[in-house]
Amino acid sequence: MKFGTKAIHAGLVPDEATGAIMTPIYQTSTYVQEEIGKHKGYVYSRSSNPTRDALEKNIAALENGKFGACFGSGIAAIDCVLKMLNPGDEVITSNDLYGGTYRLFKTIFEKYGIVFHFIDLSEIGNLNQVINSRTKLIWIETPTNPMMNIIDLKGASEIAKNHEILFAVDNTFASPYLQNPLDLGADIVMHSATKYLGGHSDIVMGVLVSKNKEIANDIYRIQNSSGAITAPMDCFLVLRGIKTLHLRMQRHCENGAKVAQFLAQHPKIEKVYWPGFESHPNHAIAKSQMRDFGGMISFSFKDNKIEDALNTVKKVKIFTLAESLGGVESLIGHPATMTHSAIPKKEREKTGIVDSLIRLSVGIEDAEDLINDLKQALK
Ligand SMILES: *Cc1c(COP(=O)(O)O)cnc(C)c1O
Repeated sequence: MKFGTKAIHAGLVPDEATGAIMTPIYQTSTYVQEEIGKHKGYVYSRSSNPTRDALEKNIAALENGKFGACFGSGIAAIDCVLKMLNPGDEVITSNDLYGGTYRLFKTIFEKYGIVFHFIDLSEIGNLNQVINSRTKLIWIETPTNPMMNIIDLKGASEIAKNHEILFAVDNTFASPYLQNPLDLGADIVMHSATKYLGGHSDIVMGVLVSKNKEIANDIYRIQNSSGAITAPMDCFLVLRGIKTLHLRMQRHCENGAKVAQFLAQHPKIEKVYWPGFESHPNHAIAKSQMRDFGGMISFSFKDNKIEDALNTVKKVKIFTLAESLGGVESLIGHPATMTHSAIPKKEREKTGIVDSLIRLSVGIEDAEDLINDLKQALK
């Protein structure tokens, strides 16, 4: 089956009791047992729930995996993967991670004796300098936030396999429509379903997908034991969002390309970060591992004046100032004072997050309106 058909049908069956074509919201904590141990497969909703089950199967199919697990947030899904490790284990990850992931690693898991190496992974061979017998997990995000760096997933998976290291990918920025890390050798794919999967800025949710039964059993054990599950109503909303994921992503990509090209020729703009440009340092890798280049774009101003960024953010009328991304509406953000303000200026600037940098999540409105909005704001 192709992507759009899977998005609409995978994992879904008409409701047995009523024939309802849409998966019902099973808003129940428990399930009646006919006699002790005799039930219909559901015992308690922390362990499993039919609405969540349907979503977990659907997302697993979109990532060409076998097992899906949904959590109360993207961060809760990442938390589950880290709980597969033991004190003393080491993790290698990139130095421009999503801020919340960095905080989870540094302020929660370091305390429990897990050791983290944050390195530049735009050259994937750098992994070899840090791998040792205690390395148990490689955690990669691509494209990265907000610098839109691209990391070679196939290269990383080959190195991980050689050393028998678990390899997990945060696929939030690409969505399963643009990139399927399991096909490139990853063991686990993670999404913040808050973003493109949900797509309508109305829920917070996380997802893990794997092909491997042993890994999946460990994930389900932690999901049930730690209890960071998601609610049936939210599962219903994400199931509904996913039915148009392929259509939304096509439009995000089209609009993203048009906005990126507009920005690139604007006289006030210094640099535009978008993997679709041939001048992007890892464009060839992006082309080989992604179906298209998405609607996330960052750009900086000539002379790097913070006022230019702040004025633009103030003057836009269709783009709205907010954290988050991946919804139908276009958002604008200023990483240095918003998402990445916790990182010291010196560290921030080393990875390219300068004071005049702006990040766009290009939505699915009409491209002409979006470009006119930026044009008047940049005046
Ligand atoms: C938003 C986001 C997360 C965290 O997900 P939440 O649903 O906000 O907990 C993790 N990784 C990336 C790349 C994100 O954009």
